[in-house]
Amino acid sequence: MAWIFDHSWYEQLRIDPNSLDAEGVPQHVSVVRTVDDAHVCAVHSSEFPQAHLVGFNQELAAFLGAPSLSSRPHTHKPIQVPEQLVDWLTGKTWMDGRPPLSMVYAGHQFGQWAGQLGDGRAMHIGALIAKDNKSYALQLKGAGPTPFSRRGDGFAVLRSSIREYVASEALYHLGIPTTRALALVETGHLVSRDRYYSGMIEQEPGAIVCRVSPGFIRFGHFEWFASQGADDLLRSLADFCVARYFPECTQEEQPYLSLFKTVAERTLDLVAQWQGIGFVHGVMNTDNMSLLSETLDYGPYGFMDQYNPNWTPNTSDRPQGRYRQGQQGQVAIWNLMQLANGLYPLVGKAEGFQDILAWAQDVWPQKESDVFVRKLGLPLGADQDRALVRSLLVWMERAQVDFTDFFRKLSGIDRPEELVEDHWSTSVLDQWMAWWRDYMDRASYWGVSDQQRQQLMKSVNPRFVPRNHHLERVIHAATQGDWHLFHDLMRVLADPMSSELEDPYGWAHPKPKDAPDTALSCSS
Ligand code: AMP
Ligand code: MG
Repeated sequence: MAWIFDHSWYEQLRIDPNSLDAEGVPQHVSVVRTVDDAHVCAVHSSEFPQAHLVGFNQELAAFLGAPSLSSRPHTHKPIQVPEQLVDWLTGKTWMDGRPPLSMVYAGHQFGQWAGQLGDGRAMHIGALIAKDNKSYALQLKGAGPTPFSRRGDGFAVLRSSIREYVASEALYHLGIPTTRALALVETGHLVSRDRYYSGMIEQEPGAIVCRVSPGFIRFGHFEWFASQGADDLLRSLADFCVARYFPECTQEEQPYLSLFKTVAERTLDLVAQWQGIGFVHGVMNTDNMSLLSETLDYGPYGFMDQYNPNWTPNTSDRPQGRYRQGQQGQVAIWNLMQLANGLYPLVGKAEGFQDILAWAQDVWPQKESDVFVRKLGLPLGADQDRALVRSLLVWMERAQVDFTDFFRKLSGIDRPEELVEDHWSTSVLDQWMAWWRDYMDRASYWGVSDQQRQQLMKSVNPRFVPRNHHLERVIHAATQGDWHLFHDLMRVLADPMSSELEDPYGWAHPKPKDAPDTALSCSS
């Protein structure tokens, strides 16, 4: 098996002619600029003579068609890496002779129109036809400045690159749509960051994540071309996406509206799945929303410790908490409205979009609670079960139980006493016992035996998620050059529902109640 390249990104999107010289070689970026009249710019990555691979996803590389590579599952130690791939990942050579591309997009950030953003530190280095016969784009994040870097330097720090690598693979193994991570490279050069926006600038090791997706297309792409009145570029991008990712929509009378309906439905499904595992994205700006409804752009995300719908992992979003846990569904719908504005020029009528947005409002509460009904091991569908979910969540917040730990334990008990914690008040305890009785009533109403319930629950309630305090340990060790915690965490995250896996480092353990929350900001 050999690599099979897909050049359609070069052939079907408009490359900014100003980004290429007369020989078709990308100009070196000297100025940050507004790019109009194009979908993408050809760019150079920076040179990293000291670059070395620290994480490598052998299973994914084999899936992408890496020659003579066994698909040994879940190996992230860079042992068996095709040399050619390392050269691509460090920018030493181009994939099949084509230069990297950075894309132009805009977006709403924290509710405000931000104008042109674009790939300020990301570049598409090529696309490969994988074993499923589909095309996957490879993107480097942190490989140096592009015309879209604005005030940024185009680089990424090791800590945020580790966080992206780990969480994207964790979500993948939890069965949640996400971009994936192919490789993690330490660039060997230092990056200056004000980590907590406190005025204290530190030098941190730089890194590159190579991430993989059928396409890194954001809501903000459509917002950009629509805002510019660039209808031709808007239409050609939409047609490119429909043909590649939503071919079923071409059969419909209104393909763009049908595209919007599909994206709306899948986006709500994605966010409902986030709710089910306590994942809080942290920066749900429209430029971080994938048209393919994948989890995209991992920054100050978090897996919730104690259940708290007001929790936001991103200190840059406190105290307002726009992107707090309990708000993610509403934010998704608000973002879909921005996508509707982006697609509107192609349709010319607002009604169809409004109907779909109204439908999204209607259906969201049910989509969200159905994920929890499933977590409880019950069949989907009845109002009583959704009410059971609501009362459980209210109680969980009061009882201050750990979200992941609670559901996992609930998956393995047959008596309510087994879950009781010392610090519960009498009323918390009473409510728990009453809830359990209602729960058992619903299970017997559906004829679900306790054995069936537990078995089902253990397949949807993870034992392992990458909690922020665990990631801090991994990052701390890796920064000292010790990667064994990283590899061990990747080992358990590849099989997150397993009851059998040994856990010598305590990845399944919740954060101690008195330990502080990990402070995370947008600085990455
Ligand atoms: P984010 O908040 O990471 O999703 O990024 C929002 C925008 O800022 C995107 O256009 C990014 O490309 C850009 N950006 C973020 N960090 C950097 C950086 N270090 N250098 C250049 N651009 C950046
Ligand atoms: Mg982003």
